[in-house]
Amino acid sequence: RAKASGKNTYRFYTPELTRAAQHRLEVEAELRPAIALGHIVPYYQPVVDLGSGRIVGAEALARWRKPDGTLVSPAEFIPVAEQTGLVTSIDMAVLSQACPQTQAWTEAGLGRLRVSCNISARHLQRGNLPGDIRAILDASGLPAAQLALEVTETVYMENIDKARTMLDAVTELGVRILLDDFGTGYSSLSYLQALSFDVIKIDRTFVKDLPDASSLALLRAMLGIAAGLGVTSLAEGVETMEQYVLLKSLGCGRGQGYLFSPPVPAARFEELLREQKAGTRFP
Ligand code: C2E
Ligand code: MG
Ligand code: MG
Ligand code: MG
Repeated sequence: RAKASGKNTYRFYTPELTRAAQHRLEVEAELRPAIALGHIVPYYQPVVDLGSGRIVGAEALARWRKPDGTLVSPAEFIPVAEQTGLVTSIDMAVLSQACPQTQAWTEAGLGRLRVSCNISARHLQRGNLPGDIRAILDASGLPAAQLALEVTETVYMENIDKARTMLDAVTELGVRILLDDFGTGYSSLSYLQALSFDVIKIDRTFVKDLPDASSLALLRAMLGIAAGLGVTSLAEGVETMEQYVLLKSLGCGRGQGYLFSPPVPAARFEELLREQKAGTRFP
């Protein structure tokens, strides 16, 4: 096994490992030009205020639209992109489309929506994130207060001081920071201690089995932490009316999930906003 790599041990690769490496090379070879050609596009998933049932924002999620029309999910290319460093270009591709789009919706009178974009932890370790964000905000005219970045706790966050410096500089611009997938990482609580977030996104693993007793207990505890820190809580993966009602009664501020809408292309998201404005959708 490749894992046992101490002194005097053999390193040999199983056919599966070779295939995985092969797959990574193939995806990378195709992904690099795809980014440059603008084939990475954001889909938008509504973020709903649970109290009013209204769409108050969107999460922008990367999709790879191939020339033949196939749509590749981030589960297939983000892991490869993380390993190869291409992920920072994907983050930028999504940001540089989502910001002008959100500004266009605001100017069309569809609401001062907040858009959040996922940022790889790798992005916090290198590059010039604050400068890049500033440039995108200036170019799009989107007020900083309408942009948020979603950060996940991962093993890639080698250097927490570096991450803090980056996040502080971004916060300084007026951009909000969300802690994504809360409760599933390696060190959730120490993350909260070391970095400051504006919103905690509770991972859908804690929502999917509701109202099962252990989910309920964990959810209450997480909502308590958010309230204690004075930050907004947002539940991911809200799929049923029962989950919605329960989350609302527990004091969760916002929600996102298939109950409201899956991630959709910009044109469809705009229809949702128009339906909301016309009063034909939500609550
Ligand atoms: P995430 O940021 O936690 O995004 C939430 C994921 O849950 C999305 O998957 C979304 O489609 C899915 N989801 C939303 N509502 C429901 C629901 O009710 N039920 C279920 N079962 N799933 C739901 P998606 O779009 O496939 O994205 C997967 C992950 O890929 C994201 O997880 C994020 O970590 C990553 N990702 C996506 N876009 C980017 C990007 O531009 N940059 C980076 N660095 N990562 C990205
Ligand atoms: Mg996210
Ligand atoms: Mg998430
Ligand atoms: Mg999640």
